Amino acid sequence: MGSSPPRVVVLAGGVGGSRFALGVRAALQRRSAPEPTLVVNTGDDVWLSGVRLQPDIDSILYALAGVNDTARGWGREGDTERVNHELQAWGAGWPWFTLGDLDLGTHLARTGWLRDGLTPTRVAAKLSERWPLGARILPMTDAEVDTWVVLADGSRMHFQEWWTRHRAHLEPVAFENPGIDAASPATGVLEAIAESDVVLLAPSNPVVSIGPILDVPGIRDALRAAPGAVVGVSPIIGGKVVRGMADVCLSAIGVDTSAAAVAGLYGARAGSGILDSWLIAEEDADLASAVDAVGVRAVVAPLWMTDAAASAALANAALAAAGF
Ligand code: GDP
Ligand code: CA
Repeated sequence: MGSSPPRVVVLAGGVGGSRFALGVRAALQRRSAPEPTLVVNTGDDVWLSGVRLQPDIDSILYALAGVNDTARGWGREGDTERVNHELQAWGAGWPWFTLGDLDLGTHLARTGWLRDGLTPTRVAAKLSERWPLGARILPMTDAEVDTWVVLADGSRMHFQEWWTRHRAHLEPVAFENPGIDAASPATGVLEAIAESDVVLLAPSNPVVSIGPILDVPGIRDALRAAPGAVVGVSPIIGGKVVRGMADVCLSAIGVDTSAAAVAGLYGARAGSGILDSWLIAEEDADLASAVDAVGVRAVVAPLWMTDAAASAALANAALAAAGF
């Protein structure tokens, strides 16, 4: 291990995923390593006003291209909302869900190509041609397996409605991805994992970002059989989610909001899980023995991705944990 630059696969959601992806790209460029393959959650995807949205793929695409709105945390920098106002005037779409004009350009391009018969994998490749991204973006699957949230009264709603309209305030009892049992990994996903030297799990939402990726039949087994180390980064620091509402998702599936509990959720490759090593924050150093008890090697590192340098340092720590 460690002699030649590593081939890296990253499993990722949107915001945490894109910050980490920027760090991985920087860390690999410094090592003259090949571009990483990013396997991205598509559970957030939704049809709205006739177009297909792929929020996590777009977050990563825009961040790698440097055209994302860093202040707002989503969408395109300098976007406007003229079309959105028209849609609302027509009573079309969701009044609580803003689609920026530039962002709608992406959705229209994507939907047009899907209607032409291209797979989501090919569409992601075409969207990636516009900018030098320094990474390959793959959807986890070409199948439509949107996440649905089951509420206590037995009713269901699309994940985007629960997350964006209700800000995760309606108590969930389960998350489902209808059709996922019959889905296949997107073309290239299993190959990338089998040919990788390192697989990294971004500090993304374990339940609704990483969870759906692992639930695509074949991906979990591919990680268990990966030739190099599988290293995860905790999205939980000091018992708290850093951004977003992942704690509500974890509670719903009976997992504590703690770095050690999430390590337990993923499990050890030495057992029936997927992790070899797990990066926890300095604030959580006292949890190292609990992580080790799961059979996963705990590595204490600074986990705050406050800027590009911090994200790159975190990616370096993850690569070092994998022997690179
Ligand atoms: P989403 O798809 O936009 O919800 O984003 P992800 O699923 O990729 O990431 C969301 C998770 O990233 C949140 O649950 C946070 O706990 C985590 N996160 C965000 N910023 C940071 C950070 O700076 N450091 C770490 N370790 N985790 C972070
Ligand atoms: Ca997401």
